Amino acid sequence: MAYHALYRKWRPIVFDDVIGQSHITNTLKNEINSSRIAHAYLFTGTRGTGKTSTAKILSRAVNCPSSTDGNPCNECEVCKAIMNETCLDVQEIDAASNTGVDNIRDIISQVQYIPSMGKYKVFIIDEVHMLSKGAFNALLKTLEEPPAHVIFILATTEVQQIPATILSRCQRFDFKTISISDIVSNIQKILNGEGINADFDALEYVAYLGDGSMRDSLSILDQCLAFKENDLTLSDVVDVVGAVDDKILYEFASDVANCDTESALRRFNDCVNSGKNFDNIAKGLLSVFREIIMYKINKDNFSVSKLKRGYLESCADSFAIESLVNCINILSECIAQFKTFSSQRVLCECTLIRLTTPSLNTDIDSALSRLSALENKVSAIANGSVKISVSNTAPVQNSSVDDEIPLPEPPGEDASYDAPPAFDEPASNSAQTPPSPSEGYEKIVSNWSEVMSHIMTSGKLSLYTTLFTAKPSVSGNELTIHVDDPDKKHSVSEPANIAAIKDALLSLFALDVKVTVTTESSSQGVDSEDIFANLGAMEKKFPGNFKLD
Ligand SMILES: [Zn+2]
Repeated sequence: MAYHALYRKWRPIVFDDVIGQSHITNTLKNEINSSRIAHAYLFTGTRGTGKTSTAKILSRAVNCPSSTDGNPCNECEVCKAIMNETCLDVQEIDAASNTGVDNIRDIISQVQYIPSMGKYKVFIIDEVHMLSKGAFNALLKTLEEPPAHVIFILATTEVQQIPATILSRCQRFDFKTISISDIVSNIQKILNGEGINADFDALEYVAYLGDGSMRDSLSILDQCLAFKENDLTLSDVVDVVGAVDDKILYEFASDVANCDTESALRRFNDCVNSGKNFDNIAKGLLSVFREIIMYKINKDNFSVSKLKRGYLESCADSFAIESLVNCINILSECIAQFKTFSSQRVLCECTLIRLTTPSLNTDIDSALSRLSALENKVSAIANGSVKISVSNTAPVQNSSVDDEIPLPEPPGEDASYDAPPAFDEPASNSAQTPPSPSEGYEKIVSNWSEVMSHIMTSGKLSLYTTLFTAKPSVSGNELTIHVDDPDKKHSVSEPANIAAIKDALLSLFALDVKVTVTTESSSQGVDSEDIFANLGAMEKKFPGNFKLD
């Protein structure tokens, strides 16, 4: 027996079987029940969402003499003739291969004749955006004054390419991408009909790969069933499509969160050795970072498999949105370079090094992303949701030399200044060589990153952020802080903030300093290198500690 693709075999034949588009099929059924049928319809939406199937059902429903509740009976002579494509009243034109004026004139010449079997002549024009300008013009005349027995159904994935004059003559229906749960339940129904078993995880993964398209999901399922006829598992699907397992991709994400370059490169090597191609690894990782962003933005309405939701839950808090956007930028650059770069392997490895070593990226986006990641970590520590080990010199992984530091108290409104700093040891270099007061006030400018560290670790997060781009200058015993705008000046000048800065200067340099804030620019001060040095010092203080379960 000839094998029929699942998509063709299980194409919906009544409106009620069209998945995920009830907003459209209910309207069409109502129109048919009340005989208020339009003369031109435009079906738009991404591929595989049911546009052509709905058009075919509509072409029968309007012609079927014994339709029930707007659905065609599919049993009568007319329905059968249309289904067998022997009825001349219904014509399907693929505009992708019939783009010219002559093709449209050909249609128009048939419009004047009355239908031979049913009530309506139906012209379904698929991929209508492919028509030439001349062809659209020819079509427009007929759409303006169509004979009463003619219905046009235009279908397109690219509605923005359709001329406004055409759009305004059509009743438009937007087909939605189909949710994973809708696709899974439909696939399950089809497999039950075929007597085939498959794990739920496998079906969820097929639906995920189908990306909202029923046709694509069923094509992937066909491919999997060609490989294994029954008892399909998740790992079968992963093997067939050559994808990288989600678990591995999320482990890569955890390497990025932990800045663990060694682990990421080892994982990459394992993937390559097990036959995964570079493109699938990079694109898979890109889609993981996209998923984490979408999940963070709209946790409850994010359509995702149960398994993946578990991964997302365990890692979403480890990333700030800025870091994720930065990761996506880096991966997009990598994917764009695949065609021109001589070694895809080297390109992927460099990309993983960039992702896991934020200090290599010195543009402002990366700086913001790193700052944001730090803020996340410090807030998590401050509100007690995360425990970290703080180390002055040791690498992150080497926990034996780390000192467990008790959690700082959450900073109160005003209490933060009076409270002893939670992390009262200064960063390593100043700990080894404590500055003496005799070294003078210039010390403040050259050790500004120490001052910033002190402010951050004492829990004054918003002051730290505001001062991030500020520049200090010193004259006599007076420190002037140069900020970009009046708002920042106002904020830094608040007594509690001035007190926090003075406190930092007193503890670090034993200097009692007069502090003023100005919006005037400074000739002295920090440049971008200092900003990155400052970030680097802070990141060492707050190493990542996120692990995927
Ligand atoms: Zn019928």
